[in-house]
Amino acid sequence: MGEDFALLLREAGALLEGHFLLTSGMHSGRYFEKFRILERPELCRKFARRIVEHFFPSGVTVVCGPTTGGVIVAYETARQLGCRCIIAEKAEDGRKIGRGFSLTANDRVLVVDDVLTTGGSIQETLSALHPSQSEVVGIGVFIDRSAGVSFPVPLFSVYHEPVVNYQPENCPLCQAGVPLTAPGRSGKKKSV
Ligand SMILES: [Zn+2]
Repeated sequence: MGEDFALLLREAGALLEGHFLLTSGMHSGRYFEKFRILERPELCRKFARRIVEHFFPSGVTVVCGPTTGGVIVAYETARQLGCRCIIAEKAEDGRKIGRGFSLTANDRVLVVDDVLTTGGSIQETLSALHPSQSEVVGIGVFIDRSAGVSFPVPLFSVYHEPVVNYQPENCPLCQAGVPLTAPGRSGKKKSV
């Protein structure tokens, strides 16, 4: 309550301005560096707190997050709710709930993630949960930077700031000659 999340993001260096190449191939003038939040447990605690307050009445029994950053969000959210935390990992086709995690039709699942951009990871997580017949009560994200993604269950974001993406050929930053950077890479060829 009363937290200025925009200020917290700026202070942590999580909100970058410049000219960025996104994993989708699009360009953007703003970029959320989620690991500047995820590396600070105290900051994660504050963001997760809002998600917990929002979904507390929903009777959540399990929190599920997609790898990589979503695992940290799921763990902290589950810690505050006092329930289990499970992971949706990359699989050959979409995502899978492995590691011997068990879900029943009585489970009430909250899906969480760090930054919502296109909704791909969350959609894959919902698909991975589907065979368990558990009920997904909602989706909670730290940052929603999308222009609006629709899901079959309610979405709650702690901080919402739609960011415009450009096709490289129509990018005003390219046209202005601003150097392009590719942030958020894991250091390997493929971003995770
Ligand atoms: Zn550009």
